[in-house]
Amino acid sequence: MKDCIFCKIARHEIPKDFAYEDTEVMAFADINPIKEIHILIVPKKHIKDFIDIKDEALPAGRQGLMTKLKNVGQKIIKEQKLEEKGYRIVVNGGGAQIIDHLHFHIIGPLGKAVKM
Ligand code: AMP
Ligand code: ZN
Repeated sequence: MKDCIFCKIARHEIPKDFAYEDTEVMAFADINPIKEIHILIVPKKHIKDFIDIKDEALPAGRQGLMTKLKNVGQKIIKEQKLEEKGYRIVVNGGGAQIIDHLHFHIIGPLGKAVKM
């Protein structure tokens, strides 16, 4: 998608410090964080919305995109010690999202572990 900001980041047209990057998945800090840790897990492929995710026919042993997004999310949660600090995963869709390119917000610290 030519004008999609996350597609531009995926194509390296907008410089970005990636917390994670491979050929299919990228993760980077949200530009407007709502907590100390606010990282976006994003497929490089332009998928508009959660509702548009399709099942994939995969050869044996190959991981689908959702599995890869889950694995990167778990890696970031562990790296950021959010297992201890508490976290929330948010996916906005159906027009609730600002950017029409699927992404998972990982946000923390949150919850019981956070001292008020
Ligand atoms: P959503 O409302 O779920 O579409 O959230 C989009 C998120 O993308 C917001 O939290 C923005 O702060 C974030 N965002 C927008 N542009 C950038 C950018 N260039 N780099 C990092 N995060 C961005
Ligand atoms: Zn896009």
